Amino acid sequence: MSFTVAIDGPAAAGKGTISKAVAALFGFAHLDTGLLYRAVAAKVLAGADPVDAARTLDPIDLENDALRTPAVAQAASEVAVMPEVRLALEAFQRDFARRGAGAVLDGRDIGTVICPDAEVKLFVTASSACRAQRRFQELTSKGMEITFETVLADVKARDDRDRNRATAPLVPAGDAVMLDTSDLSIDAAVARAIEIIAAKRG
Ligand code: C5P
Repeated sequence: MSFTVAIDGPAAAGKGTISKAVAALFGFAHLDTGLLYRAVAAKVLAGADPVDAARTLDPIDLENDALRTPAVAQAASEVAVMPEVRLALEAFQRDFARRGAGAVLDGRDIGTVICPDAEVKLFVTASSACRAQRRFQELTSKGMEITFETVLADVKARDDRDRNRATAPLVPAGDAVMLDTSDLSIDAAVARAIEIIAAKRG
């Protein structure tokens, strides 16, 4: 029987780290759904039509380090506003959610739109300053030259677009468990998520 864990929240709240750790511990598959929108955006930046890019997306397109840049992140949140793009990516995500022993999907609309019947829903948050600081460290540790102010402005612009779009906005599902990681270490945040999932698994 499949078991789906939906992990939503804004950029750099800790969803990715928590998802990977949880998937490894429970032996579940993991899909970072932000990569789907980033891969579409990368194709659009290279001249493709957004809806065509979404309809013809190949899983191999997700394996690309160039998807991790702030420019692609912003472009991703722009293509993510388009209902036809979102629709084109739905079936892949739903199929992934029900495969094997279990799956963890992280994104913005997993608990609300993609997997409303997920066995566990987490909504991971942190203050925008805290999230920007984490993203700043991540980018500068990879050698990128960028200021904290630019990263903070990018995070806020993306939050704003993701929260206020008409289709599948970033909002916690009514039955999601909230997890604020502002004052938690990575280990503590992961431990809390594991506790919540383990309790639901029984
Ligand atoms: O999670 P990540 O920061 O990689 O996502 C990039 C962008 O893709 C987000 O800012 C959001 O606009 C979009 N996205 C989305 N729905 C998801 C995952 C990501 O709209 N499930």
